Amino acid sequence: MSGGREQYLAELGIPVWQLRESGTPAERPPATVPAVAVGPVADSDAWTELATEVRGCTLCPLHQGRTQTVFGVGRRDARLFVIGEAPGADEDRQGEPFVGRAGQLLNAMLRAMGLPRPEVYIANILKCRPPSNRDPEAAESAACTPYLSRQIALVRPQVLLAVGRIAAQWLLQTDVPIGRLRGRVLSYGEHNTPLVVTYHPAYLLRSPLAKATAWTDLCLVKDLLSESS
Ligand code: SF4
Repeated sequence: MSGGREQYLAELGIPVWQLRESGTPAERPPATVPAVAVGPVADSDAWTELATEVRGCTLCPLHQGRTQTVFGVGRRDARLFVIGEAPGADEDRQGEPFVGRAGQLLNAMLRAMGLPRPEVYIANILKCRPPSNRDPEAAESAACTPYLSRQIALVRPQVLLAVGRIAAQWLLQTDVPIGRLRGRVLSYGEHNTPLVVTYHPAYLLRSPLAKATAWTDLCLVKDLLSESS
């Protein structure tokens, strides 16, 4: 990253001096995240089949109110897979996860890790927007998350990053508060893929003081990616 780390931290609203005195993983020298090799897109038939299924899905009542499904976006061989909650109004309109202000902050968080948005894969627990942006209901998540599981299986990421309480609690099947889930390495699925939890960018926009805490989570992700390269 060309001298941009401080700039991206500034976008996150994080003073650099604060990070270096924090006593957290953030004080370590910035790990260099190696570039991801560009390779052939694997399992293209499976991706096409999955995208077609999602596009026409009527498994839960949310299909009635959607403008379109929001499948996911990014590299199909990404090392990092970011998982959010559900599409909001902007996502429903544009058909892409994490657009709008929260999406811009997520992009800044990713850049601060040395991973521009196109280098990762991003998807949500739900592929259709809940009305009035309410929390997903358990039955909706149960109906929809097999799609996410198939996406994760196809991407085979080295690290999962769950952003926000809803995504974290569903993936881990727990009601433990996000404050106790973040800041450590958990695991997901039969392959025990390392999973890190952090705050949702929409929450960080409302609570800027939590950005420094979120940065320590991102440093954890960065360290995991460096270790597995
Ligand atoms: S939210 Fe998921 S399960 Fe429900 S209709 Fe949309 S794609 Fe299907």
